[in-house]
Amino acid sequence: MANMNTLFYQDQYRREFDAVVLSCAADKKGWAVILDQTVFYPEGGGQPADHGFLNDVRVTDVKEKNDEIIHYTEKELPAGTKVHGVIDWDRRFDFMQNHTGEHIVSGIIHQLYGYENVGFHMGDTIQVDYSGWLDTDQIREVERKANEIIWTNQPVIITYPSKEEREQIPYRSKKELQGTVRIVTVQNADICACCGTHVRSAGEVGLIKILSSEKHKSGVRMELLCGKRAFDYVCMLQDNSHEISMRLCTPMDKTAEGVARLDEALQDKNRQLTEMTALYLQERMNKIAAGDLVMDVLAGVDRNSLRRYADDLVKTKGCGTAAVLNRRENGVFEYVIITSKNIGLRKLAKDLNGKLQGRGGGSDEMIQGTFSAGEEEIRRVLCEILAADD
Ligand SMILES: [Zn+2]
Repeated sequence: MANMNTLFYQDQYRREFDAVVLSCAADKKGWAVILDQTVFYPEGGGQPADHGFLNDVRVTDVKEKNDEIIHYTEKELPAGTKVHGVIDWDRRFDFMQNHTGEHIVSGIIHQLYGYENVGFHMGDTIQVDYSGWLDTDQIREVERKANEIIWTNQPVIITYPSKEEREQIPYRSKKELQGTVRIVTVQNADICACCGTHVRSAGEVGLIKILSSEKHKSGVRMELLCGKRAFDYVCMLQDNSHEISMRLCTPMDKTAEGVARLDEALQDKNRQLTEMTALYLQERMNKIAAGDLVMDVLAGVDRNSLRRYADDLVKTKGCGTAAVLNRRENGVFEYVIITSKNIGLRKLAKDLNGKLQGRGGGSDEMIQGTFSAGEEEIRRVLCEILAADD
């Protein structure tokens, strides 16, 4: 792709240019325009295409096909038209920062562990796959060394060495390369064959932040952000952390301890609540007369307590069948029905659910689920169905 008409290789910082339209054909993506020269970088090497304008016509995608760079435009630009092109520089510079940052990280990993970059995708984050596993400490070390390359502002050098010269250079490449090969060197970090656009010195990458890592095949998949994207990410974390810190009344560097304390306090409260619910349900049970079919409607009781209560009504109190309900805030009733009788409870669950817009089921001893009907309606249907088979 290193032709004379690819202005982005002569100067990766060029944003504007003048050109003449060589051809323009209708295409399902709009119009396919070929120019005599361009600064629009076509999608390639994992780097997305430039966007921008030719005169006042929007360029929505750029691809390379058969050694030609095709600009997909929203309107027709007839052959012979003189155009002034402007690329979306914020978009391009973001790719340059992130692409160069990826080189630095891949180069450091290659230097330290000998692993290869085996997959690269630039989306909302930069996703890179490496051929070997790295643990959390190793990743933090890679991240620190990569940022040291930025702090020392190592130059990024583009060269086109001959085949003989290339044999002497230990560059990273996914495949055997023929013809002109463009070598991108980040001094002290990386040497790699690459056709993308890069910043001219590591300092312009600004910041490299590795967000996550997970096992992928026999290696690791990492997500990272560089430059302005990394800065925006840190700002987002800070805003979140500040919000948490305010709510916990804890300094921002102590929020993890604050959350741990909150979690312990919550568990204590849950234990208390469970104990008090058990006492309350015990009292309630004491007041109920044992019967063949006992129904009780509660509110604000957790599912475990509800089940224990129904169980106690049958096993301790000696009721034949216990149907207990818990009214949720949205008006739906949770139910637990336990029986000591041979009434085919599992099958009856279908009738109940059908008549009371319910869901759930279980065994012949116990069923549970929800009803979406009024309390009176539920009482009536429970009586009808659970007492019928007596
Ligand atoms: Zn590159």
